[in-house]
Amino acid sequence: MKEKITIEGLGVGVGVAIGNIFIYRDKIVAPIYDIKESEIEAEFDRFLIAIERSKAQILELQSSLESSIANILATHIFMLEDKTIHNEIKNHLFENLKNIEHAYSEIMNFYIKKISSIANSSLAERVADIYDIKNRVLKNLLVQTEANRPKVPKDSILVARNITPSDTLYFINAGVTGFVIETGGETSHVAILAKSFAIPSIFGMHNITSICKNRDEVVLDAKNNIVILYPDKDDIDNYSAIKQAIEEEERGFIENSKEASETQDGVRIDVLSNLDIPEEAFTVKKYNSDGVGLYRTEFLYLLSDGCYEKAIIPTEEMHFNSYKSILDEIGDLKFTIRTLDLGGDKVLPIEIDSVKDDNPFLGWRGIRFCLSNKDIFKTQLRAILRASVYGNINIMIPMVSVLAEIFNVKKCIEECKEELIKRGDKFSDNIKIGALIEVPAAALIADKLAKYVDFFSIGSNDLVQYTLACDRNNDKVGYLYNPIHASVLKLMKNVIDVADKYNLPVTICGEMAGRLYYTPVLLGLGLKSLSMSSVSIPLIKNVISALNVSECKILVENIINAETDIEAKKLLTGFVREKIPFTKKV
Ligand code: PEP
Ligand code: MG
Repeated sequence: MKEKITIEGLGVGVGVAIGNIFIYRDKIVAPIYDIKESEIEAEFDRFLIAIERSKAQILELQSSLESSIANILATHIFMLEDKTIHNEIKNHLFENLKNIEHAYSEIMNFYIKKISSIANSSLAERVADIYDIKNRVLKNLLVQTEANRPKVPKDSILVARNITPSDTLYFINAGVTGFVIETGGETSHVAILAKSFAIPSIFGMHNITSICKNRDEVVLDAKNNIVILYPDKDDIDNYSAIKQAIEEEERGFIENSKEASETQDGVRIDVLSNLDIPEEAFTVKKYNSDGVGLYRTEFLYLLSDGCYEKAIIPTEEMHFNSYKSILDEIGDLKFTIRTLDLGGDKVLPIEIDSVKDDNPFLGWRGIRFCLSNKDIFKTQLRAILRASVYGNINIMIPMVSVLAEIFNVKKCIEECKEELIKRGDKFSDNIKIGALIEVPAAALIADKLAKYVDFFSIGSNDLVQYTLACDRNNDKVGYLYNPIHASVLKLMKNVIDVADKYNLPVTICGEMAGRLYYTPVLLGLGLKSLSMSSVSIPLIKNVISALNVSECKILVENIINAETDIEAKKLLTGFVREKIPFTKKV
């Protein structure tokens, strides 16, 4: 029996998972299947399209490189156009009647083998080039479908270097009970999705894919941020008991959270849900939520057809159906729809005017992208307006940094209303328009924005990353990502004070809203509305009822005035331990 290994990472959630490892390597494997003679031309056409796409990608890459490096890529284009290879591929299709991916792979493997057998260092470099080209063309040939995704045994714990949001959903549907991922962190969209489905995960597990093997037994403890490889019998017994206790405790929290939330000193706090996909809407009622504070609509673009690589621009009808299906679940509870926030780590796998940015988090993201792609934006707005007849809809604008963006959005909304009137479609007159405050600039001009919007929501995931110049997904700088840094709290306080002055509702919808450790800080800042993954709601409602806002206010002042971050964290940890008796994860 192998000796147990305990590895530390960054846990998301408080759960425990026990199971066998399934390693997911996002490598490109050419499928093999029979084709008919009548399909040969169509297969070869697919190949030519993939070649054209590959050439376009290389040309775009070349334009951003200095000439000496760009020249290397010129040989790639040369190889892509090689007629001898094209003819060999065609012959392979005729002789073997197998699909194009297989034919192409076989021919390229033949050349790789041939050149590798010649001992010559400059030819060795050519081999690397051929590998590169082969992977690029295969990627362009392969459309990721449910059929060619890996089959995962139910109750597996998935181990991967990185996964896309659509992979995450695929694995959740396949019955995976935990994620162990080499990269990323709590605010990555993979973590957010896993949390929505109450699946414990650990991030920042460097090299884990090279340490373990498929079917190895493993324990994942998200509360204590550890993974135990080759656990012994005592570990399994111990963790099975812990898992059961956590599940019982959660049932208790749900039972205690049926009523509206109120603090010890009688302040009513709204607790709302963040949703990523319509299928999650049932969690609003299940976890006693007061409504939806954030519906991230980009998953509609990233996951259309349930398949990431096939993503398309959703039609107005697709938008409308997704909003309507959520309204069917939540009735007239508040429903805040965030308009498309592509960019950052939510990048479309298709090209719209080439959304590739050198610095995506600072680039063509959120409302910036929408205002330069008005067709896409207005398609979404028309659907939201139409759905507004069926419920209590608010529109939230992401990544606002200048007032002109709000003016432009309002202009688009008015144009959409006119279009709908012409079409004879109805919409509510009572739709509120709000700004997601997630860029420090917006937090600092909250007083200007307040005159033109109906509500604010604080997007702390991005506000923290932009304020501290600290990539939210890079665990190497994770130690800097501190939501209670005095700079962040001062920005949030400015937004909340301005909202109070102008009598505007203000919510927070970043991940910190669902972490009990931060609840006293958020109440102390004066927030009366928190939006989070539905699964966190019962716990946070229980926490709220144990707190006193007047005490939380003093705590926040002390945290802001603390000399060092360590001192600030100590103050908060001490407060949480003292005031929240059932503290699970601080
Ligand atoms: C945020 O930035 O806090 C937020 C809610 O948006 P997202 O996590 O989708 O960027
Ligand atoms: Mg954001």
